[in-house]
Amino acid sequence: MKFEQLNLAAPILKAIKEMGYEKPSPIQEQAIPPALLGQDVLGCAQTGTGKTAAFALPIIQRVLNNPSIKGNRKIQALILTPTRELALQIYESFEAYGKYTRLRSCVIFGGVSQTPQVEKLRRGVDILVATPGRLNDLIGQQLLDIRDVSIFVLDEADRMLDMGFIQDVRKVIRLLPQERQTLFFSATMPKEITELADSLLSNPVKVEVVPAATPVELIDQSVYFVDKANKRNLLAMLLEEPQVESALVFTRTKHGADRVVRELGRVGIKAQAIHGDKSQNARQMALTSFKKGALKVLVATDIAARGIDVEELSHVFNYDLPNIPETYVHRIGRTGRAGMSGTAISFCDIEEKPYLADIERLIRKKIPVVADHPYPMEIFELPVKQPVPRHVRNQRAAAERKNPYHPRAKTADFQPKEAAYDDNSKWNRFEKPKSKKSSHYFRNRNDNNGKKQVSSGGKRPSNQRQG
Ligand code: AMP
Repeated sequence: MKFEQLNLAAPILKAIKEMGYEKPSPIQEQAIPPALLGQDVLGCAQTGTGKTAAFALPIIQRVLNNPSIKGNRKIQALILTPTRELALQIYESFEAYGKYTRLRSCVIFGGVSQTPQVEKLRRGVDILVATPGRLNDLIGQQLLDIRDVSIFVLDEADRMLDMGFIQDVRKVIRLLPQERQTLFFSATMPKEITELADSLLSNPVKVEVVPAATPVELIDQSVYFVDKANKRNLLAMLLEEPQVESALVFTRTKHGADRVVRELGRVGIKAQAIHGDKSQNARQMALTSFKKGALKVLVATDIAARGIDVEELSHVFNYDLPNIPETYVHRIGRTGRAGMSGTAISFCDIEEKPYLADIERLIRKKIPVVADHPYPMEIFELPVKQPVPRHVRNQRAAAERKNPYHPRAKTADFQPKEAAYDDNSKWNRFEKPKSKKSSHYFRNRNDNNGKKQVSSGGKRPSNQRQG
């Protein structure tokens, strides 16, 4: 099929031709015709399949067919997406596909000043791309309204759920007009997402695609067994090889990412890190210079790297192996995009061997081992685990509570603090008895074989007492 057969307007066809798209991807082929007719669409697809154009092209065309009255532009299309990086990418796609139209699009997301965003909104926009937090924030301040939205896209619905944004999403949905077209995209369809889709869509056309090429087939993968302390030397050595044009290096933690950047800097390799502790502007600048090719090495954590779409990425390095095997597949899928070959190099120390086994089980393939390298593994035994001191455990628990992405996040937005009292299993973990008297009380209760005692200082509700 050709783009010309999709009944798209001439300015849109001109723009996609300029971008070098030759034919629609499978999801575009399936989703564009019903979306152009105003039907709801339920798309089961992930980034990399061309799903952005699958909703952006019909939206541009439908808004073109229904132009706003001059001087009174209203937001006709709203695209809600979980991360700032994705929001920016989608906005850039709208700008590119709508290049030869007079439509105005705008992107809003948190972590940066709202002033330029509000200024742009004030001048009038037809298409708005937003993350849920900033959208609700600006609606709350009465700086924008979404009452005229006739096309609503919910992008990456499953990630919205994972990242704890689903309540924000529901809040937005309540403010949308009932009469509208909804395009719903999710890479996976867990029960909660299926229910949400059912409540939002009426008689949707279902489209489902798997990424064009599974990474396993296209990507040249290898693993180096190396001790933790030598990973930095090995990375520096490999990055110097001429075939490494651009490299995305994955670490498990934010501190790890910063450390790798520092260590590479010491041997004269310029790299930048993106992770949740970096300001939005710093992340954006690093990403932009990486995409432009000005920065060769970007070091990222998995969460920060979500939604990053870098064309022509030559190498992915797994500095740390992920403990979730699917993450490995997502990481290496960053290279080898659009049918190109890519290279994924993993470092595995003694502690990560079980992770490697899990990955190989998932991809049903042994990853070739590069044995001949200057930093072969010398530690073959797992270090004896020392018990983690209580104060370190407490610090970690506090950090977990602050991190909104953590599965046990306890930030005010997602779970009220009082919830700790409702949940028996977590009560002791987060709330230490206030006084010596109360801790004494717990000890005594155990000694008493669970016999009921009258509490003097403990705050725990009686129905939650355990031995
Ligand atoms: P997406 O899944 O929307 O993030 O798109 C992934 C990449 O594929 C982006 O870099 C797009 O520019 C590119 N792309 C989207 N549609 C096509 C197409 N029909 N032909 C070639 N590349 C495309």
